[in-house]
Amino acid sequence: MKIARLVLGVVCLTLPSVGFAQSSSTPEHSGLDLSAIDKAADPCNDFYQYACGNWIKNNPVPADESAWSRFDVLFQRNQTILRDILQDSEQHENQSAIDQKIGGFFHSCMDESAIEQKGTEPLRPELERIAHVSNSEELLEEIARLHERQIGAFFIFDSTPDPKDARMMIAEIDQGGLGLPERDFYFREDERSKEIRTKYVAHIAKMFQLIGVSAADASAKANAIMSLETSLAKASLDVTSRRDPQLLVHEMSLSDLHQLTPNFNFKQFFADVNAPDFSKLNVAVPNFFKNFNDLLKTQPMSTLKDYMTWHYLNGSAALLTKAFVDENFDFYGKTLSGVTEIKPRWRRCVSATDDELGEALGRKFVEKTFGQEGKQRTLEMVGEIEHEMANDLQSLTWMSPATKEQALVKLHAVANKIGYPEKWRDYSSISILNDDYFGNWYRCNEFESKRERDKIGKPVDRTEWEMTPPTVNAYYQPTENNINFPAGILQPPFYSNQADDAVNYGAIGVVIGHELTHGFDDQGRKFDADGNLKDWWQKSDEEKFNKLADCFVNEYGGFSPAPGVELNGRLTLGENTADNGGIRLAYLALMDDLAKKHISPSEKQDGYTQPQQFFLGFAQVWCENVRPEQARLWAQTDPHSPGRFRTNGVVSNTPQFSEAFGCKTGDKMYAARGCRVW
Ligand SMILES: [Zn+2]
Repeated sequence: MKIARLVLGVVCLTLPSVGFAQSSSTPEHSGLDLSAIDKAADPCNDFYQYACGNWIKNNPVPADESAWSRFDVLFQRNQTILRDILQDSEQHENQSAIDQKIGGFFHSCMDESAIEQKGTEPLRPELERIAHVSNSEELLEEIARLHERQIGAFFIFDSTPDPKDARMMIAEIDQGGLGLPERDFYFREDERSKEIRTKYVAHIAKMFQLIGVSAADASAKANAIMSLETSLAKASLDVTSRRDPQLLVHEMSLSDLHQLTPNFNFKQFFADVNAPDFSKLNVAVPNFFKNFNDLLKTQPMSTLKDYMTWHYLNGSAALLTKAFVDENFDFYGKTLSGVTEIKPRWRRCVSATDDELGEALGRKFVEKTFGQEGKQRTLEMVGEIEHEMANDLQSLTWMSPATKEQALVKLHAVANKIGYPEKWRDYSSISILNDDYFGNWYRCNEFESKRERDKIGKPVDRTEWEMTPPTVNAYYQPTENNINFPAGILQPPFYSNQADDAVNYGAIGVVIGHELTHGFDDQGRKFDADGNLKDWWQKSDEEKFNKLADCFVNEYGGFSPAPGVELNGRLTLGENTADNGGIRLAYLALMDDLAKKHISPSEKQDGYTQPQQFFLGFAQVWCENVRPEQARLWAQTDPHSPGRFRTNGVVSNTPQFSEAFGCKTGDKMYAARGCRVW
């Protein structure tokens, strides 16, 4: 698995799960899905139920999914296209270089009998290396070796834009090395959390048994590993704290770092992973490394080695025989997310190819699916929405003129990336063999960790993408001040050339506004127009912003996505601000667009006025069903609110919605004193 993490992280639209559809419905003339609407519901009382009620009823979560949404339906469509591409590449008579890479990789993943035949043999060389470690020098060497293969044992080493000079890449080390999703999973005291921990320890033990360790030894190892991870977790920051980029910036020289961690020769580690020479780096969480330094002396060597073995097994499980795959799914799929069945092999193999060779596969996907018309229209909408935001910024009553000026500078500097990268990643140096899935995976990982390391000391390449072209998502990159829309999302229900403008503005238009306002949310506002972590706000603006933002913290903190689970209003603040700001900007842009085209807002299509279509187009993007286990997991780890609250939370803050549907005082969705920042 790739280490998909950035300290000064990208902010995305959602975290979609992937899988196959139950059914799909044909959009009506306007582009709305009329069959999704629950006419028995009152839009002013529960708009989400009105817009999505029938969809929710007719689209239960499939057995091999933890949640099911319209994002997933679209992703499923993309996956089928990707499978066709891969099968064609696999069987092509005159294979191109790209066909050989992606076709060979996919083939090796699908060839389960070759994988079964090899059994645990692919693991052996690395397991033996770990077993032979006998002193701290050899331990360091092995940690470095695992890091080169993207097994993040103990911590994370990566490159990142320099927080003080966002044009340059520097080295960074950060907290890491946990097998549970997040720090707090090691400490929560409720029954469900305790159960997850018990099952996690049992899972570690079973993985050891699969490589031939006796049940009693495996259980002892698992308990020791759990206590080591708990101690790593103790010195880690939780997800909510990590939203504050200032907390993650500590520039150090190599000798500062040596003083912090005298028991671990980082200079040697950087040489062992073949990092370019550098003199300073960012140590995201210094206390974590102080603690890591102590652990190296307090933990027995055997436990440190068992911990490395566990992380190697964990990182390799999906590449091995059915016994490993099933055991891995049993904990990470069933226990953590509530999924009952594993996905068909081909879906896992399509995802794996997208993970490891995403720009080779993505290039073919773009050739096959991406239309210039969609790109052009999206760019126009981005321009219109940026224009609305400029007007909006100027009209704000709470922001001082000096800060407004800076905000406009930042807004005008936003770069827009649509569809796919200008230049494609070159994977030609990776050797891909048709019968070696395990080897292919780790060779791709080595390629990727080298690619990331080699950026250290070089200028930031702002043309690079964090998401592959078929991805159904979008993101704002605060350190680069750009918004990114992969080709995968520029399709129905987000965008259609055939749909009414009102529906397109409600769907992809709100997404564009959402990404744009991320530059100005609780996190994004701390970066300047060039992506540097720099405070460009007046003190009074900051105080007023925080007060307005607290309205969202309280509103969303009151929502409950599953029995006994509450949303974390602070963790989801940036996303909620983006949703609320995004809809306002897209709505204003639609009104201008209609005026330009001389279309009256009251003109109906499918029985709905233009504003009604806009709000339905927005809400229907978020139709979803979620298993309670997954709802709980997301509430604890995901900065995005669930679809129900993304919809109802937003419309009940939006007076234009009340107007469109004639909602009155006392109605739940009536925007009496809605929260608003942008
Ligand atoms: Zn977002």
